[in-house]
Amino acid sequence: MSVPSYTRGPQTTPLLAMTIGAAFDRAVERFTDREALVVRHQGLRYTWAQLAEEVDGCARGLLALGLKAGERVGIWSPNCAQWCITQFASAKVGAVLVNINPAYRLTELEYTLKQSGCRWLICADSFKTSNYHAMLHDLLPELHRCAVGALESDRLPELQGVISLGDTPADGMLSWEGLLDLAEQVSAEQLRQCGEQLQFDDPVNIQYTSGTTGFPKGATLSHYNILNNGFMVGESLKLSEHDRLVIPVPLYHCFGMVMGNLGCVTHGTTMIYPSAAFDPLETLRAAAQEKATGMYGVPTMFIAMLDHPERQSLNLSHLRTGIMAGSTCPIEVMKRVIDDLHLKEMQIAYGMTETSPVSTQTGPDDDIEHRVTRVGRTQPHLESKVVDEQNRIVARGQIGELCTRGYSVMLGYWNNPQATAEAIDDAGWMHTGDLAIMDEEGYLRIIGRNKDMIIRGGENVYPREIEEFFFTHPAVADVQVIGVPDDVYGEEIVAWVRLHEGHQADADELREYCKGRIAHFKTPRHFKFVDDFPMTVSGKVQKFRMREISVEELGASKSDLL
Ligand code: AMP
Repeated sequence: MSVPSYTRGPQTTPLLAMTIGAAFDRAVERFTDREALVVRHQGLRYTWAQLAEEVDGCARGLLALGLKAGERVGIWSPNCAQWCITQFASAKVGAVLVNINPAYRLTELEYTLKQSGCRWLICADSFKTSNYHAMLHDLLPELHRCAVGALESDRLPELQGVISLGDTPADGMLSWEGLLDLAEQVSAEQLRQCGEQLQFDDPVNIQYTSGTTGFPKGATLSHYNILNNGFMVGESLKLSEHDRLVIPVPLYHCFGMVMGNLGCVTHGTTMIYPSAAFDPLETLRAAAQEKATGMYGVPTMFIAMLDHPERQSLNLSHLRTGIMAGSTCPIEVMKRVIDDLHLKEMQIAYGMTETSPVSTQTGPDDDIEHRVTRVGRTQPHLESKVVDEQNRIVARGQIGELCTRGYSVMLGYWNNPQATAEAIDDAGWMHTGDLAIMDEEGYLRIIGRNKDMIIRGGENVYPREIEEFFFTHPAVADVQVIGVPDDVYGEEIVAWVRLHEGHQADADELREYCKGRIAHFKTPRHFKFVDDFPMTVSGKVQKFRMREISVEELGASKSDLL
């Protein structure tokens, strides 16, 4: 008789039944004077006791602003100390932190702030090509006229104010120091009482992940969801207070704030941020100079570090463990990560934002073959199954859609019960949209996606969102977006465009149109202008056929498409 593709992870280590604030306080109590956080690009270092002072100060400041449990506070910034402080402070007051991708531009920013109903936004001033203050003044021209905290915007009626992380907050914004100064209005006892009211099943975080059906959806995660996921990831890596983890991945994503920050807080491990956004040399330097024992990244980050000319001059001998996730790891890369970066116990994790994120993980003892061809086995306390199109479990070795059930499954998509019901079925299974095979030993292999998401350099890109954006261009009559394989980014974005009759637009103009409106990583690399698309007889666009054509044309002559 065939064995069904169903497994349940071990249940030896109990789940943490506490809020994130309580877990943070526990770390402070246990590891008081050990190093908690190192932010190299800001020159900042905190012990757990020092970090607690900042976190509690920020939490009391947020309470002084009138922020109440369940209300949303957005953060729009690259990695920095204040991101981490805000994460724990907002959790302590019971607010729901809304992660906003720092590469987002106006359209996306407005959508996420409005959809989540943010009361306050905490934002950086500028970074690389992003001038956050200027963008905010475009979105909120009334900001500089309104008193701090008394914003009245027609576009974002629920937003009360903006807190700036920059040195010079623009008019109408509260500065970070100003927020911390407000702490004196609220006592430590009031903060403690506020924490006691919170439940670990309360929502604590919204992360926007683009759906296949239009605009991004806000995966709403509870304390229990993400605290336990960070904890179980750290358990698998055998993290302890003697470990120091380099976190070069973005904090706005689960990889940074859950697997990174919460993995560390639950084990007393030092969090090390090498730079505001990923930089291969700074990440390598952080590992060497901080004597780091662990490091995270998506495969493209490890490739960039391995290829860096200065790598060999750095002493990386303290490194032992880490996680590679986000997309499949080529075997050569894994071999070099083990040999050249000393990451002998490097593990592969698989999951998605909606499952907090990790659902399966390889173990420290898995051989290299298992680490590159599989994504590990079901994580503790979780269940995995692989189902066919009728939602029936398939036999081991057969392909189907991977589903996850357990503590890590999100509460739902924020204010979107229909999308939630499409993703989580009545029995509590999250349907991942990923195609997988479960082998005899219970290891899972990811085969592809049955949704048409593109993963470009670790960033998820949803064709539908880009298509809808291009429809706002007056010359565009129809557009279809696909991904094609790319040596550097894993996948690259190609847009097939049909223009309105009598209208003109070329690739440069469309690229220019994207600037400042959508995130740079969503801007198609290639454009192809067509009169029509390959269609089925029933009138459905054949994206697979478009992909074949683009792959062939790009391979043959890139200039045809550029
Ligand atoms: P996100 O919601 O940004 O975490 O993206 C989740 C998606 O990334 C999953 O549904 C998978 O398609 C993909 N993914 C995550 N981890 C892996 C992995 N280790 N191997 C292959 N694909 C992965």
